[in-house]
Amino acid sequence: MSEALLTPYPFIKVALPVPMRTLFDYKVPKAIALRHELKPGMRIKVPFGKSTRLGVIVALSETSDWDPAQVKPLTSLHDESPVITKELMALCEWAARYYHHPIGDVIFHALPVLLRKGENAEFRTENWWLTTPEGQKLPLDQLSRAPRQQDFLKAVQQHPHGLSQHAASVLDLAPAAGKSLEEKGLLRREPRSFNKGGEKHAHQTQVPPTLNPEQAIATEELLDSRHHFNVALLDGVTGSGKTEVFLRVMERLIEEGKQILVMVPEIGLTPQTLKRFEIRFNTDIVLMHSNMSDRERLDAWLLAASGHAKIIIGTRSAAFIPAPNLGLIVIDEEHDTSYKQHEGFRYHARDLAIKRAQSLDIPVLLASATPSYESLTNALQKKFTWLKLRKRAGNAHIPEMERVDLRGKTLIHGFSEHALASIKLCLDRKEQVLIFLNRRGYAPTLMCHQCGWIAACDHCDVNLTVHKRANKLHCHHCDTQKALLHTCPECQSEELFTVGEGTEQVETQLSTLFKDVPILRIDRDSTQRKSAMVKLTQKIHEHDQAILIGTQMLAKGHHFPNVTLVVIMDADAGLFSSDFRGMERTAQLVTQVAGRAGRAKKPGHVLLQTYHPDHAAIECLCNLGYEHFAIDGLAERKSLSLPPFYHQVIVRAESGNEQEAMQLLSAMRNDLEPLFAKDVYLVGPYAAIIVRKAGQHRALISIKSAHRAPLHQATQMMTDWLEQSTRQHKIRFAIDVDPLET
Ligand code: ADP
Ligand code: ZN
Ligand code: ZN
Repeated sequence: MSEALLTPYPFIKVALPVPMRTLFDYKVPKAIALRHELKPGMRIKVPFGKSTRLGVIVALSETSDWDPAQVKPLTSLHDESPVITKELMALCEWAARYYHHPIGDVIFHALPVLLRKGENAEFRTENWWLTTPEGQKLPLDQLSRAPRQQDFLKAVQQHPHGLSQHAASVLDLAPAAGKSLEEKGLLRREPRSFNKGGEKHAHQTQVPPTLNPEQAIATEELLDSRHHFNVALLDGVTGSGKTEVFLRVMERLIEEGKQILVMVPEIGLTPQTLKRFEIRFNTDIVLMHSNMSDRERLDAWLLAASGHAKIIIGTRSAAFIPAPNLGLIVIDEEHDTSYKQHEGFRYHARDLAIKRAQSLDIPVLLASATPSYESLTNALQKKFTWLKLRKRAGNAHIPEMERVDLRGKTLIHGFSEHALASIKLCLDRKEQVLIFLNRRGYAPTLMCHQCGWIAACDHCDVNLTVHKRANKLHCHHCDTQKALLHTCPECQSEELFTVGEGTEQVETQLSTLFKDVPILRIDRDSTQRKSAMVKLTQKIHEHDQAILIGTQMLAKGHHFPNVTLVVIMDADAGLFSSDFRGMERTAQLVTQVAGRAGRAKKPGHVLLQTYHPDHAAIECLCNLGYEHFAIDGLAERKSLSLPPFYHQVIVRAESGNEQEAMQLLSAMRNDLEPLFAKDVYLVGPYAAIIVRKAGQHRALISIKSAHRAPLHQATQMMTDWLEQSTRQHKIRFAIDVDPLET
């Protein structure tokens, strides 16, 4: 037989995790072609430079664009079946084109870390505990002198099909007790593949509430369109029962054998959310988020890929999770900016999910109390189905928002007298207060009283934040940390003082004002450890009286039934930002935080401290609410030809040299602008707001157009130009399509 007949596709096109916008050609050696059927999506090892690398087959090919004699053979095949399904491969290829990002990086991003590193796409085995016949019969009181063994044996006796090691640790059973029982011949261990468990904990069912009329209409509408592609925007005020609506839709689809992907913001996945799903569904749920170990994430990925997991709850990267029976994608808090990756492969998980659903012909459900301007525009233009919930579910009411004028007032630790009095009254009623300040640490600035010196980061153009408890100065932009100084490095004076306040300072000061009240701080510093958030929320639920202080972490998804007062310390932050999205973000944040008040039976109240109580934006938000505010904001965006009415791409360049990045982008503009279509507009190059970050000087150029096609074309030209030019320079560049930050 001729070689050609044996291998109809003698070449493969391979994606490698390298920053080059191309695929690489390799030959398939006869020995491999004879024994294996190669398919796109399989991993292989290939020679690359002086080493071998793991790559993913993107396509089989009859020909190569290169001289066949020069094309190297692949080294070995890594998988027996594809790790990237056909569906996901198409999504990755689309994303690489749309975001102008190297295909290899996109494909590797779509895989769990362990698969990128070459781990087999197989379930691990786990030990399961089983009783021996003696162990099954043994009356438990015979172990009364060894209570840990008694507990252990009791638990295994109750699980006739076995108890996994993992479940044993969740039940807090002592491993040593298990071993002793094994030595006594009462228990035995059996290795099983991780996915074969299927053990269900005693299922607590809960009667779901009766839907109110708004919820019923939304649910009906969603159920009617559940078998085809469409995007619905479930736009409901905080606490209006949005989750309840999508749980109903999920229930039906799960009965129909479908899998459901529920996307949540980076830090929005609270233990409460998970519990709510677990109580509701007697089915396999997996999580996918950054706080899990690489192995846990691979397990979740495998459970989704095998179809075992019916519900997948995950953050941004879960947009790429394989699920053979996917029937619905829910994106909770769709306005959240954590859905956009801000470095490397700068995709937006919501937009990707919509694209994915379109190819699968399944529905997408976007939920938010404060929809993004992009989604609102799509709803207004009837591209999305707009479902509104305007009332709070059950007996809860929308909290009242009151502006507190700070002009000319004496502040005590950043609070007006009125705010402090309100806090006291609230605590006296044995209720909880939530204080919102979007600044962690003790103070944003450390200054010298004698010479005016300010502690600044050596690598960025920003001041260092004071963290008193950790005794450190910390750069929130590049993570540089230094010991807290007590003398000025310029004039040796010891009169250093802090300016402004962060959450740590508010915590310290309120604890002197309200001595016996538990104070809980929720920000990135206090929740670093895995279990910290669980413990903090437990504490909040244990006490009646409490003060919660937090950053935007508090704004997301939490349900604190006893919070009746919310104080927004600095409503002006963000109002005067140079970013045209500042207003949108501020309004979302304020509305979300305000929404934490009065979620249960007790009415809520919100105080907004501001120096601009008459500012049209603040007035509109307080009196008319988010939707009205957003529609006004959209009119302004339209008149200024800003997104979402114009599409935008930002090219970012950075260099260790002060001028280089700017010069490069100027040269690019000079070369390319005459070639761009007429309806493509350029702004820049200009310096980033924080010019120097982590030692890199950053410049950007923005282009926009009312139409995607010319914008895409211009971006392609810029990418090609930059790839050519940056080969000689040590300049990094990034393409940011639909950027969310400037
Ligand atoms: P959202 O997702 O809009 O913030 P949730 O679905 O979490 O709102 O509902 C807020 C609270 O109201 C929850 O405690 C939920 O159990 C309850 N709830 C939802 N729908 C109803 C209803 N129809 N009747 C009574 N309580 C409800
Ligand atoms: Zn000094
Ligand atoms: Zn820094």
